[in-house]
Amino acid sequence: MKLKKALIFGITGQDGSYLSKYLLKKKYKVYGISRGKNFSNLKKLNILKKIKIYTLKKNSKNNIKNILKKNFNEIYFLGGQSNVLESFKIDYETYLSQVSPVRDILNFILLQKGRKTKFLFAGSCEMFGKINGKKKISENDKKKPQSPYGLSKYIGYEIIKTYRQMFNLPVCTAILFNHESNLRTNKYVFKKIIDSVKKININSNFKLNIGNINIKRDWGWAPEYMEACNKILNSNRIDDYIIATGKSVSLKKIIDLSFKRFKLDWKKFTKVNKTYFRRFEIYQNQANITKLKTNIDWEPKKNYLDIIKELTVKEN
Ligand code: NDP
Repeated sequence: MKLKKALIFGITGQDGSYLSKYLLKKKYKVYGISRGKNFSNLKKLNILKKIKIYTLKKNSKNNIKNILKKNFNEIYFLGGQSNVLESFKIDYETYLSQVSPVRDILNFILLQKGRKTKFLFAGSCEMFGKINGKKKISENDKKKPQSPYGLSKYIGYEIIKTYRQMFNLPVCTAILFNHESNLRTNKYVFKKIIDSVKKININSNFKLNIGNINIKRDWGWAPEYMEACNKILNSNRIDDYIIATGKSVSLKKIIDLSFKRFKLDWKKFTKVNKTYFRRFEIYQNQANITKLKTNIDWEPKKNYLDIIKELTVKEN
């Protein structure tokens, strides 16, 4: 039997690494695209030698169009500048790194004989922007991004939707809500909390410095979300889907529960710092995952309690 070939943009990141691991287990041949800066996640998962990576460096012969000609069964875009705060400083790089590869991929599939290559783009709940009501967010809700990052995801989503509808291409966006793992860096708040609690457990002089602890988010487990992405592309209902848990919890609760894992009182070691408050903060988001459950027959197993346990127990 011919093995399926998958190409992953952003293969060295949290999601790219977990998706690679999952696809290798399913006997795919896995290929990735990277700027070649850091392969530590793939090394941690012990899979670096099992995949082929195309490095895109300035002046190198490799370019996206040539790589795409190798005809993959599935393409996943999990790359680009993906930090909301950074995106205000490097907006152009954020737009370029998120949107330009999408255009290359779609044009390749459009001109391909049979148009068989399937494509999934990692969108984000940041596309919706400020929905601060109590309502759960669904795929078709109004999108009003609040950052260059959210806007770039929204542009990618709209282009993909348009191509799917105009040319009947097997392409879609997975609208990902926050998801965590041991591969996440502490530039992101959940991992920052866990890393700080671990430090405080060893050195009680250390403090957790944090912004608005009343914000609420829908947090899930990264390896599970990557399984869902693969299921979407292998279903006969390729479409845009929200991937989330459907439950929202405050940062304060995450902090409290994380400290409790080490029998510590969070109030003694946490400093709320107004300089970390965001001007365009999204106070609350919670997803409606009915479409994913109904069409793909998939829902996540791990909730925020499981995630705290995973991150405070084992390393991978
Ligand atoms: P990571 O930041 O861990 O990985 C993204 C990868 O993209 C990096 O490993 C890097 O690969 C590449 N990259 C980073 N910056 C740039 C840049 N400026 N230009 C080009 N490439 C860059 O992201 P995640 O794995 O956490 O997320 C995967 C995708 O899902 C991303 O598109 C993200 O926006 C989206 N997403 C993630 C969420 C989450 O909670 N994790 C939530 C919603 C959406 P290399 O250095 O090898 O080129």
